Amino acid sequence: MYITHLEIDNFKSFARKTKIPFFEGFTVISGPNGSGKSNIIDSILFVLALSGARGLRAEKLTDLINVNTGKNTAEVGVTFSDGTTIRRRIKRTPAGYYSYNYLNGRLCKQGDVIEFLAKLGVKPEGYNVVMQGDITRIMEMSDGERRKIIDEIAGVAEFDSKREQALSE
Ligand code: ATP
Ligand code: MG
Repeated sequence: MYITHLEIDNFKSFARKTKIPFFEGFTVISGPNGSGKSNIIDSILFVLALSGARGLRAEKLTDLINVNTGKNTAEVGVTFSDGTTIRRRIKRTPAGYYSYNYLNGRLCKQGDVIEFLAKLGVKPEGYNVVMQGDITRIMEMSDGERRKIIDEIAGVAEFDSKREQALSE
């Protein structure tokens, strides 16, 4: 299963509704500095609830709304190769902000999105994206720290924490 396309609307630098296709296997996005490449990754992490505002390089969620259009909502939709679509919309109001999640067009809880992804082996606490600067960080960390990341990717870490929990009970 893979992502076939994204629809980004008023999210970060994407002021106009933009459809971005992805291909099975490997897709490369290139462009000048500041043109919005990383914002595309941020949009995926946002719609799939894989990161909070900080991980999306924003202080708060409402900073994800495009600053130039004057609109109060930002929306991202992701479609998978099995036809499943997940959408997330944030809306700014004078009283705060609201976040809405949709699974195949129906309003759902964020937990439903997390559950859908967990079935595909994608977890919010997992190492899903290699961010800018990560390679340098991984090279510079200690063997023990690097081992932790490999355990996480290999799916061993989950059993380690379950074992620790069992031993402490
Ligand atoms: P680099 O090659 O340097 O990594 P990039 O293509 O990854 O660049 P991004 O970090 O995705 O670039 O985009 C940065 C741009 O997004 C900046 O110009 C910034 O002003 C813009 N941006 C971020 N948040 C918003 C927002 N809420 N509204 C409008 N523009 C925004
Ligand atoms: Mg970037």
